[in-house]
Amino acid sequence: WEMIRFSVNIMRGCFGGCTFCSITEHEGRIIQSRSEDSVIKEIEAIRDSVKGFTGVISDLGGPTANMYRIGCKSPEIEAACRKPSCVYPDVCPNLNTDHGPLIKMYRRARALKGVKKILISSGLRYDLAIKSPEYVKELVTHHVGGYLKIAPEHTEQGPLTKMMKPGIGSYDRFKQLFEKFSEEAGKKQYLIPYFIAAHPGTSDEDMMNLAIWLKRNGFKADQVQTFYPSPMATATAMYHTGKNPLRKVTRDSETVDIVRGDRRRRLHKAFLRYHDANNWPLLREALKDMGRADLIGNGKHHLIPTYQPVTDGSYQTARRKNSTPTGAVKTSTVTKGRILTQHTGLPPRDNGSRPVAAAPTKSMRGGASATPSGAGPKSAFGRKKPR
Ligand code: SF4
Repeated sequence: WEMIRFSVNIMRGCFGGCTFCSITEHEGRIIQSRSEDSVIKEIEAIRDSVKGFTGVISDLGGPTANMYRIGCKSPEIEAACRKPSCVYPDVCPNLNTDHGPLIKMYRRARALKGVKKILISSGLRYDLAIKSPEYVKELVTHHVGGYLKIAPEHTEQGPLTKMMKPGIGSYDRFKQLFEKFSEEAGKKQYLIPYFIAAHPGTSDEDMMNLAIWLKRNGFKADQVQTFYPSPMATATAMYHTGKNPLRKVTRDSETVDIVRGDRRRRLHKAFLRYHDANNWPLLREALKDMGRADLIGNGKHHLIPTYQPVTDGSYQTARRKNSTPTGAVKTSTVTKGRILTQHTGLPPRDNGSRPVAAAPTKSMRGGASATPSGAGPKSAFGRKKPR
């Protein structure tokens, strides 16, 4: 609830068709967008009725952040088209990639009285975003809270073709635009790329190459996902049959490398977390078996070192190391111009307590918090907000 308390859903559906995800199957490939007025009204309702609102909308998105009012140029073609994705293997020439309506809505939303910041936290389809540098500029200049999560999912063509995801070249192009516009805006902002381990069609070499790419680019992933066959996803059909349903399936058609068994699944995940010393014994053994012992060493160009520190088997993420210890009193100083988020203390915890749990009401968005009279959280400026 805390995560979506101040977020607004602007659309349903996705035409991405990523095989590990079933949103296209259960929400549809044709995007259903809300009207701009309806979205603006919901933001105003949050501002006026949700306790603890400090002026920050945490997300204006949906299954994909930037598919609002985007679709096929021709309704007739769209109705007859049977392609599972409008953006794979490349953005379809029939797709209208105009991000204008979304930019217009962002501008209107952030001009609202009482709204200090609109963040975009939903996943971004970056191969689509680079078709509109104006959109990337708008996003980077006004709507990124320091970090932007995007999901290339892999760097290697083998797994990417089984995922129906774009090549890493689109990521590089987006990164260039992101860095250029961040610099122009005078902001230090970073991309956080997400990857999947053990997806059907991923070889051990693919994971090793991904680990090398991560190290070369200075990424140390805290949270990683290992593929899990979920209902309705195309990759689940690959997982259970070992066949590739993206092409005609026959007795002799292509077979897909399925990552099964505890050791191999752990190995693929270990490549993503090459920096975790607990994984080094497994990685050393695998690299030797793969004939890549040259990646073991203590130089910068090596993937893992030869020495093994004593560990207790646990791993503490960098984020956890930096966070406030359990039970510690966390106070938030209300300073003019400083935006409060759930990371900096929301609502202001001047007594160290957790935010008051909210109970749903029959308000417009069903989300205003209900607390005993006089015990409600204070507003960002230290006064009780009107009910
Ligand atoms: S023709 Fe292209 S844009 Fe239109 S529905 Fe098919 S894949 Fe999507």
